[in-house]
Amino acid sequence: MAMQEKYPFYEIEPKWQQWWDAHHAFECDTADARKKFYCLTMFPYPSGSMHVGHGRNYIMGDVLARYKKMQGFNVLAPMGWDAFGLPAENAAKKNGTHPKTYTYGNIAHMKTQIRSWGVGYDWRREIATCHPDYYHWTQWVFLKFFEMGLAYQKAAPVNWCELCTTLANEEVTPEGTCDRCGRKVTKRNLKQWFFKITAYAPQLLDDLDQLQAWPEKVRQMQANWIGRSEGARVEFKVSETGDPCPIFTTRPDTIYGVTFMAIAPEHPLLQKLLPGSKHEKTVREFIERQALIPASERTNDTATKEGVFSGFHVTNPYTGEQVPLWVTNYVLMDYGTGAVMAVPAHDQRDFEFAQQYRIPIKVVIQPPSPSEPLVVEDMRDAFEDDGIMTASAPFDGRHNREALHDIIHLGKTKGFSDFTTNYRIRDWLISRQRYWGAPIPIIHCPTCGAVPVPENQLPVLLPDDVDFKVEQGNPLANHAAFVNTTCPKCGAAAKRETDTLAQWLCSCWYFLRYVNPRDNKQPFDKKDVANWLPVDQYIGGVEHAVLHLLYSRFVTKVLHDAGWVACNEPFTALFTQGMICKRADDGKLYKMSKSKGNTVSPDELITNYGADTLRLYTLFLGPPEMDAEWQDAGIQGPFRFLCRLWRRVWETHDLLTTAPPVPPLSQMARPERDLYRKLHQTIRAVTDAIENGFRFNTAIAQVMELMNAIDDLKIDAASSPSARAVYRAAIEKMVLLISPFAPHIAEEMWTELGHTGGVMTATWPEVESEALTADTVEVVFQINGKVRGKIELPASASKEEMEKAALANEQVKKHLAGLTVKKVIVVPGRLVNIAAG
Ligand SMILES: [Zn+2]
Ligand SMILES: [Zn+2]
Repeated sequence: MAMQEKYPFYEIEPKWQQWWDAHHAFECDTADARKKFYCLTMFPYPSGSMHVGHGRNYIMGDVLARYKKMQGFNVLAPMGWDAFGLPAENAAKKNGTHPKTYTYGNIAHMKTQIRSWGVGYDWRREIATCHPDYYHWTQWVFLKFFEMGLAYQKAAPVNWCELCTTLANEEVTPEGTCDRCGRKVTKRNLKQWFFKITAYAPQLLDDLDQLQAWPEKVRQMQANWIGRSEGARVEFKVSETGDPCPIFTTRPDTIYGVTFMAIAPEHPLLQKLLPGSKHEKTVREFIERQALIPASERTNDTATKEGVFSGFHVTNPYTGEQVPLWVTNYVLMDYGTGAVMAVPAHDQRDFEFAQQYRIPIKVVIQPPSPSEPLVVEDMRDAFEDDGIMTASAPFDGRHNREALHDIIHLGKTKGFSDFTTNYRIRDWLISRQRYWGAPIPIIHCPTCGAVPVPENQLPVLLPDDVDFKVEQGNPLANHAAFVNTTCPKCGAAAKRETDTLAQWLCSCWYFLRYVNPRDNKQPFDKKDVANWLPVDQYIGGVEHAVLHLLYSRFVTKVLHDAGWVACNEPFTALFTQGMICKRADDGKLYKMSKSKGNTVSPDELITNYGADTLRLYTLFLGPPEMDAEWQDAGIQGPFRFLCRLWRRVWETHDLLTTAPPVPPLSQMARPERDLYRKLHQTIRAVTDAIENGFRFNTAIAQVMELMNAIDDLKIDAASSPSARAVYRAAIEKMVLLISPFAPHIAEEMWTELGHTGGVMTATWPEVESEALTADTVEVVFQINGKVRGKIELPASASKEEMEKAALANEQVKKHLAGLTVKKVIVVPGRLVNIAAG
């Protein structure tokens, strides 16, 4: 092949992609006895065309998989599709395309794109969550949970988005909008299916300690989401009726200062108390008004605290005092018990509320300094700090923190209080009123209630022939043939559940299915999963921190307890990549998105520069965990580098192929030794960059520097055999080092250097430690202080070696003739002085 200005990536890239396919290069035999490495990149939602920002994590995963293969691991790198979800259903409603057609069409296109990047997967293991062979087992997972008492149905105020229907708490942004479409989220009282994730809250929190190879930020987000707090449960009672009204508090030390009780508008107790009561009308109006306001808005620190007096009182079991029961906007049903003992003197929210509604304030903790006691009339804010208890007999005079345990204990002995741990996390809402999802395998029978579909009747197939014309509601609910069935228990006429499972449930166990993706008897093989799980390296976006990643941990723990999965954490190491941003027309930097019009298509870049260049540039943009700015001109640098590499190999092709083996270090001339040292420094640096923190940008920069060093060694037909040998070694190892990043060009050069079988089957270069210190120093030999000789020695030469070299030196020998050596002084790396007489 002739040397060309623009190297022929357009020929070599498709050629090697086909070669990899033909040679099953990415297929993993899970029974292979070599050490396993499960390298998993989060599977995408098949939304259509991908831009270069999407490519970053697939390319990173591919680099790691190729690198691990060269290190001798048996690498499992599968890919699939998180294929259920709303966009497909909306497309169907909008332009009549069936969600299935839309989804599989997008899958085909995205698969082509992934291939064009040179990203290799074991496609025999491809899964799509919308395929019956897959959702059969998602339904099985649901049944396992049902069987274990971890799936239940209840009417509850749930998050509601007009477009996306019900949402899990994890899908609502801190601003109270829908995580998917940005619409405002309100509450609706609906009967829904939940998974009891709260039952696993302690393990989910405690086991975060095991995940040392996860980003601290993600672990912290999960810990905050789970939100553990230690405190007390105290049984207050409605004074007028005796109904229990328990509260959870982390500050039982302030319990003697309770001056009212605040409860959530959704609290079920109100529905019991209100009928016929004096304030029924005002309270009901208040409740209805609050139902329309998103929770996050209600509890926002800056939101106005509002409330109405219920007309009822509660009795504080510690004091016997009766305090008014207020319905307030700042208490939520989702946290604690939905009722809060209000201590305005020592809680800022209660303080603000009490001031507004002229409710008494009672100080029960004084600041430790006795000179400035709190006076209610002068208080501008609540005193939330620690101090000395007062007006709290029998605890007066004690430090509030020290008394805390005793206060709960007192209530415990009297039967109205106990130690409690409270969690912020709520149960996981898993049902959706949508068509394009896995049907929940439940049949509702008038006599037997909710009956699980027997396992041997799975999968409950999603019918294709539904009418998407319905504006509101779930199209599945109008499909008579689907809905009407018989009860598996009693045989009577019954109705199928028409809610489908949340997309998150389909994606929280897929990493198990990849191990046995075609097994139609079971979700996966226990033994194989025991061998292959946990995933060694998981790669994906940080936006999944409390959604997919938390759900996957939960489901793994449940399946572990059910005896199906040996490990109890699914992902040993996690890497969350930053996003690629680009300046939009307004000059500002945004993450790439269609709506901002700042996306870059990989297809055109691959046509003009090739996939290897695109891969290099994508990784070269910056540290992979950080967001990076895409600049169109930036692609030129990596392209020039690959062209240079290509030209160099072709220009010196004959010298390379006829080069002799590398001689020992001692036989290399200075410039060769320098290059050889640089080569091994590069091997060490690239290996370290990949192993420690995915510093792919650093790794590529190191290889580029090596290229400069290679250029410095002028080589031609007249060069010595050892120079040619070192030159070849440097080129050959460089090809190996760059191969995970730019695999096509590496394959081509590897073949040109005379190798067969593909560069991925080659062994990752190893560092020769002697080569690293191959530098030499000039050592001076003296006899009785007079310089008698000089020699180049390896910088690493030991004292003994230096002395030996000195005594063997011809000049030294001549001057020592007739003398007796009395003492030899060696200064390492510099000098040997011989005292003789
Ligand atoms: Zn939405
Ligand atoms: Zn029945």
